[in-house]
Amino acid sequence: MLKEILKKLSPTTTKLVAVSKTKPAKAIEELYDQGQRVFGENKVQELTWKYEALPKDIEWHAIGHLQSNKVKYIAPFITLIHSVESLKLMKEINKQAKKHDRIIEFLLQFHIAEEDTKFGLDLSEAQQILNSDFYKNAKNIKVAGVMGMATFTENKNQVRNEFQTLKNIFEALKKGFFESDDNFKEISMGMSGDFELAIEEGSTMVRIGSLLFGAR
Ligand SMILES: *Cc1c(COP(=O)(O)O)cnc(C)c1O
Repeated sequence: MLKEILKKLSPTTTKLVAVSKTKPAKAIEELYDQGQRVFGENKVQELTWKYEALPKDIEWHAIGHLQSNKVKYIAPFITLIHSVESLKLMKEINKQAKKHDRIIEFLLQFHIAEEDTKFGLDLSEAQQILNSDFYKNAKNIKVAGVMGMATFTENKNQVRNEFQTLKNIFEALKKGFFESDDNFKEISMGMSGDFELAIEEGSTMVRIGSLLFGAR
């Protein structure tokens, strides 16, 4: 399945994040042996043991809701945090990154779905954060782009509209805050059920779990 997915990504520069949450180290090693290096997890405890147990050239991405008090456990090694949705969390990431003398990159997560259960900011909240004195002076964090999850529905038009909303948010922030910052370039959208639509709408990173590893 890895090959089939990569083939669909190959006409674009979209990156594959293999979402290995709940799966054993052995399942990750199988994909690693086929060349996959980027893996996503949503639980801090799982991230830390897998980081310890698996090859050190894996890029670990944190993709789920992240509590501030747990940032310290992943700060030494995390490559990208996809799910930042508060100033409080940003402050903690900056603090922990500084302790480890690192710059940690993250994405701002936006609420684009109709379900209330999916976390995320709206555009004005993000603008407020990016205008804050804290953000302007923070030295150990870098915003690499945006992330969002579409509604879980068969309605493709709705999913497409939600991805377009995220793309528009990305463009607005790029124009308003990151025009000369090449680092702000990622649009993390698309999962097993909707990644092809997401690519059509400009995704730069798809987060695929069940299609690669089987149902959870
Ligand atoms: C679990 C998860 C995914 C992967 O979902 P699949 O439908 O299994 O591909 C992607 N993004 C986030 C934030 C997730 O929690």
